[in-house]
Amino acid sequence: MELVQFANRLKEIEEEPSDLSIRELIVNMFGDENVDIKIVVRFLLGRVFPAWDDQKLDIGPSLCYNAIASASGSDITVEDIENSLASIGEIGLVAEKYNTSTQRGLFSFGSEESTAMTLDELYSDLYIIASIQGTGSLEKKRRVLSNLFNLCGPLEARYLARLVLSEMRIGVGEGAIRDAISAAFEIPIMDVERALQVSNDFGFVAEMSRDKGVEGVHEIKLKVGRPISSMLAQSSTIEDALSAWKLVSVEPKYDGARIQAHYNGDSIRLYSRNMEDVTKPLPEVVEFLQENLSKPAILDGEVVATDSDGNSLPFQEVLRRFRRKHDIEKARREVRLRSYFFDCVYADGVELLDSPLSLRREHLDSILKEGSSPFLLTDDQKEIRKIELKALEDGFEGIMLKNPDSTYAPGKRGKNWLKCKPSVETLDCVITGAEWGNGRRANFLGAFELSVISSNVDADIEYKNIGRVGTGITDAELEEMTELLRPYIESQTGKLVKLTPEIVLEVGYEEIQSSSNYSSGYALRFPRVIAVRHDKKPGDAETLEKIEQLFKS
Ligand code: AMP
Repeated sequence: MELVQFANRLKEIEEEPSDLSIRELIVNMFGDENVDIKIVVRFLLGRVFPAWDDQKLDIGPSLCYNAIASASGSDITVEDIENSLASIGEIGLVAEKYNTSTQRGLFSFGSEESTAMTLDELYSDLYIIASIQGTGSLEKKRRVLSNLFNLCGPLEARYLARLVLSEMRIGVGEGAIRDAISAAFEIPIMDVERALQVSNDFGFVAEMSRDKGVEGVHEIKLKVGRPISSMLAQSSTIEDALSAWKLVSVEPKYDGARIQAHYNGDSIRLYSRNMEDVTKPLPEVVEFLQENLSKPAILDGEVVATDSDGNSLPFQEVLRRFRRKHDIEKARREVRLRSYFFDCVYADGVELLDSPLSLRREHLDSILKEGSSPFLLTDDQKEIRKIELKALEDGFEGIMLKNPDSTYAPGKRGKNWLKCKPSVETLDCVITGAEWGNGRRANFLGAFELSVISSNVDADIEYKNIGRVGTGITDAELEEMTELLRPYIESQTGKLVKLTPEIVLEVGYEEIQSSSNYSSGYALRFPRVIAVRHDKKPGDAETLEKIEQLFKS
């Protein structure tokens, strides 16, 4: 399939409001003979490789903007691209607006004899970009990407920009792909879901479904050496856990980094929460498991760092080690790593994803001599409080409460694992925009646009936005915020208002993510309003530099 045809299909999907019709459009595409279903599925999800693959594009927003600028001609600068992004708000439409194609005639006249790029060719070039490493790699990647933009007409440029930044914005999520595979090849959704959970490769599952049907899907099993997504936790309270379950499993919440250990009976491989192979930088964890793990297994746990006296070090130390490529022996002398394993999804030939936590823990304890996280079952609130206090005293982040009857749900942030920690991460951001609400909230400003300082020269401050926040505020507070912000309204387009940067808001968040949706290149995950910082001026807000540091740490 040619990229131009694919781009037209994507546009159709993007403009389609109904989920059911989107599924139909995807199913139709699966039926197209010329389609490499593996690639199509990954691209639909804004991915080039499966999540666990060592191959990574490593294209950040700034490299992408540079590539678009250089493909657009010598008179277009990166600043032009960034300014357009600030007004248009989304990089795909910016790439579409600039004419990156050097084959202008061809696209405008719709030549019969098309030399247009195919999806396979695009995939090969993206593969090349991923393989470029070492000195000067950024510049080399930029050049290949810029050449790709040269081969794109406007619509293809829209989707290429989004694809390399992993944000397709076409309203197709993993659920839609799962449902489309199920509908196209008449395979029960649960079977497709399971194959996806154990393989983490939507392209592969789609291909097996098409080529071998339901039997093919059943062939896809947990495999030692192929990481699965980690089960995740929600923030909650001891009271919620006790009211939901008869017994609660209580564990310390370690302040480290997630690790998945795979042992095939011969060698150990370790994977991070992002499914990156981190075996090499963590030799002490490998040695520990070689000594203590007696059977082939897939274990889930956390690695924490301590100094030589055993005092806890911040989790950034572990993440730094994950990225370390050289002088690992030296790093090992400076920072001690300790691993705690709290789950086991495969033990000595037995798949345990569907077994209750209490049984998985029995398997864990039977194959791991040392290194299991404590596992205590109780229904006594006072006892849990005591453990919580002790955990905090011992320098842990808080406690994890788990439902002992629950199965392992890869990649799910469900209600069976609850984290209780006393503090949340916060940032001070400047409000640079807002939106008039609907219905009951029509006279209130909400959905506040959050910005951070990108440069601060001679009191001439420049801001870049990092997201919007609309949760964590009552109606009364919204009314107060509206009166506070009203004097600063600079302009209004539809319901959106632009505000003079004046009010600083303290915002809680879960994580900083890279994102092409906002001009800072980052977004806050689950932002919520904590308080207006009347004591702060816009110049006291966080800087983009700090956000970059937090993101990298
Ligand atoms: P958070 O990163 O705040 O969303 O908390 C969830 C993370 O806590 C998990 O992804 C693990 O990396 C980590 N964690 C620490 N201790 C435990 C534990 N006992 N059980 C499960 N996850 C834990």
